[in-house]
Amino acid sequence: MYRPTCAIIDRAALRHNFSVIRRHVRHARVIAVIKADAYGHGLLRCAQALSDADAFAVLELEAAVQLREAGFRQPILLLEGFFSIAELKVLAQYQLSTVIHHHEQLAMLPSCKEIEKLDVFLKINSGMNRLGFRPEQGRTALDTLRQQAFVSSITLMTHFACADDPQEKHDIDQQLNRFITLQPQGAERLPRTLANSAAILRYPQTHADWVRPGLLLYGASPLIEKTGDELGLRPVMTLTSQIIAIQHLNPQDRLGYGGQFVADRPMRIGIVAAGYADGYPRHAPTGTPVLVEGQRTRLIGRVSMDMLSVDLSGIEQARIGSPVTLWGEGLPVERVAESAGTISYELLAALSPRVRSVTRS
Ligand SMILES: *Cc1c(COP(=O)(O)O)cnc(C)c1O
Repeated sequence: MYRPTCAIIDRAALRHNFSVIRRHVRHARVIAVIKADAYGHGLLRCAQALSDADAFAVLELEAAVQLREAGFRQPILLLEGFFSIAELKVLAQYQLSTVIHHHEQLAMLPSCKEIEKLDVFLKINSGMNRLGFRPEQGRTALDTLRQQAFVSSITLMTHFACADDPQEKHDIDQQLNRFITLQPQGAERLPRTLANSAAILRYPQTHADWVRPGLLLYGASPLIEKTGDELGLRPVMTLTSQIIAIQHLNPQDRLGYGGQFVADRPMRIGIVAAGYADGYPRHAPTGTPVLVEGQRTRLIGRVSMDMLSVDLSGIEQARIGSPVTLWGEGLPVERVAESAGTISYELLAALSPRVRSVTRS
């Protein structure tokens, strides 16, 4: 017996989305970003479906080690690098690649005697002001790296703040210009990586040597004006549940916590076994789209920890046990995110570990 709440993970969709990315970038190599448990989709099963990726990127050292131990031989990049000399030793042991984004990390390098070979991605802050050296500090950092005999490759890296919004093209140009000035004069050209999912689609001039798609892999759109299916992508995660109770409301009856929803007519309501402890957004308001028996209807009332309510008006065949889709196939996660005032990244990554998941190959 299982609680009916379930995330279906469609690995054929993942492979399809990967091939869409390949077609977009052509010459650049692809670093599949599978941080945060592959955006909530499950690290290892996604890595297996993405075994053609040229590299993987994660943030969590444990995840990187898990990938190595599972036999993946591609470069595995740690997007925030290492936080201590002890971690640096693990990096060396498992031949992981690392971002270096501040001086404290540079200063740790000489203290680690175990490193024979290290691939470094030098992160440049080109204007997002989150991680990275400012371009003028970047040159010094480069010199320091070049003095370490074990540093076997250096890739220049930056990250865009506004690639999702077509109105922000000027900001992209500014970031690009600041980044480009860093190519060291006289030295041989260093490989570069700039583009996340949104930049891959919108700005081919940023593809460079490596691209770093995350969200696109999972079939959601990083662009504010389009959904994943409009981009030829397929959703990898479908979050499903069932109706576990039916209520009949009379006019003026109130529903759920706070009694915020009040029926204005006789209504049939379905109670669905999914709530915010499963990762469904608590702030999703009445009107957020939901599918029942494949038919579109709406969430009503407040989302509780383990349950939510849906309007069954016009869905005569709905009964206890009827299938419910909260997002995924037939209902883009972007639509649910938009209604809940958030982004698809957050919904996918916040899927709760208590939700059973099944893999479709
Ligand atoms: C998460 C992340 C990505 C992937 O971003 P998407 O928008 O999901 O494509 C790329 N680069 C860095 C540095 C990241 O942290």
